Order: sequence, then structure tokens, then C-alpha cells
Amino acid sequence: MIVVKVGGSAGIDYDAVCADIARLWKEGRRLVLVHGGSGETNRVAEALGHPPRFVTSPSGYTSRFTDRQTLEIFEMVYCGKMNKGIVERLQRLGVNAVGLSGLDGRIFEGKHKDSVRAVEDGKVKILRGDHTGTVEKVNTGLIELLLQGGYLPVLTPPAASYEGVAINVDGDRASAALAVGLKAQALLLLSNVPGLLRHFPDEASLIREIAAANVEDYLEFAQDRMKKKVLGAAEAVAGGVGRVIFGDARAGEPVSAALNGQGTVVS
Ligand code: ADP
Repeated sequence: MIVVKVGGSAGIDYDAVCADIARLWKEGRRLVLVHGGSGETNRVAEALGHPPRFVTSPSGYTSRFTDRQTLEIFEMVYCGKMNKGIVERLQRLGVNAVGLSGLDGRIFEGKHKDSVRAVEDGKVKILRGDHTGTVEKVNTGLIELLLQGGYLPVLTPPAASYEGVAINVDGDRASAALAVGLKAQALLLLSNVPGLLRHFPDEASLIREIAAANVEDYLEFAQDRMKKKVLGAAEAVAGGVGRVIFGDARAGEPVSAALNGQGTVVS
């Protein structure tokens, strides 16, 4: 079993990712696909006159402040355009894909965090009305049912809170929880960079290997959202996933390349 997470940043070649996945699936690989949609969500939010608001926590993590209207735009893009676009590509390639959000069947479940501490103008402020959280539980039973039925699950945030409220969760960490829950051999985190770069954005500074025990030491090289990938990788390997690979989804055969060890391999 492998869990493939493909991001939502500019430059990702979804046609290449889906073609590669379809080929591997037809060869008999068991896999689950998780995707993001941040780039497109930002564009749609701007067009709808509700531009994204990113906040930085005192410890340096950047996240999207998700008020109710942002959550609804987020769902339109992630669960609608992005999810159905990927399902359609896979269906055209002859793969019976089923697209679901973490809310459906409580595939991803976690605690709702209503307020967030953010640094703005050099001061720490508390912002309320946030619809975010972190995945703590995964309904692997539903995923197994789909896989046993021959369906390829295509999953996306949001998750369900314990009260049943939709919450925006980080896709990389949700994928890590899923990979742990499914006892996956590998988790692939594919994005628009070749892997973790020691000197971002210098692609020649690609870090090729990280020992599982040391993965948190590499947080210092990751800025912004890359930090979540490193955290997700740490959580996955700590939870028993054999390998986590940060790979490039911009062209070629992104899934096969990552499985062949191209990118940053954490093991
Ligand atoms: P996605 O939505 O595709 O999962 P993110 O935008 O969340 O991807 O994270 C990938 C981004 O992280 C890259 O596009 C890059 O701009 C940024 N980044 C920050 N630090 C690094 C680093 N050290 N190595 C690689 N990418 C980095």
C-alpha cells in the first residue's frame, strides 16, 4: 500500500500524476491518492472578493485563516473543481476512482481549533472564528471497503471535527495519518519542488536522504508550508511507515520517480 499526496501549488502536472497512477494501479499496486488545492483556492477566493488571509504562528508556522466563507470557497475548490478534475482524469484513463473529502464518512477526524495565535505587526493576537484543526483519527474501514471493491480513493480536506463541523486541515499531515492508519510502506509527498532543498530555491541543493531518527533536525531548512511536509514525514515514520519521499510533480512520471528514490527520501 502506498499513499500519494499531490499538492496544490502552481506548476503541478495533474495529467502526468494521473497517468502514472493509472499505470501503477493497473499493474496491481494498491494506493490511495490525497490532493491539495491551495493555488486554485487563492485564485477563486480573490475572484470572489474574499482574498486569502495567511497567518503566522509565534513558532513560525504559516496557515490559512479559515472563516466560514473561506471554508465554503475552500470546499468549492478542493471537493469540487480539484477533486472532480482528478477523478475525471482517472476515469478517462480507465480507473474507477471515487472522490471523497475527509468529511465524508469521517475519513479524517480531529479537534476543531476555533482560535489561532498569530503574529501581526510584531504583536501576538488571538483570532477567533477559525475553522481549522489537525487530523487525529482516520476511518480506514471506509478506505479498505473502497479498495476491496476495486475503487481508487481520491481524498481531500476538509476533515470532520468530533462535533461534525468541517475543518480545514493540513493535507500533508492528514496523508501522514492516513499512511500510518493503512500501514502503508511508503508515503509520497509530491509538490512543485524536487524535494527538500537545503538552500531554497536552489534546486541543486536537494537533500537526497534523511535518516528517520533525524528528520526533525531538517525543519530548519524548510520555510513556510514545507515545514508541514517535514512534520508529516516525522509523524509517518514514527508511526511505522517505511519510507516518506518528497518528490517532484511537475513532469514525467512523478509517482514512479519518487518510488525509485528520486527526491528526498526519509527512511
Ligand atoms: P503543496 O501545496 O504543493 O503541497 P506547499 O506549497 O505546501 O506545497 O509546499 C511546497 C513549497 O514549499 C514549495 O513550493 C516551496 O515554495 C516551499 N519551500 C519552502 N522551503 C523549502 C525547502 N527548503 N525546500 C523545498 N521547498 C521549500
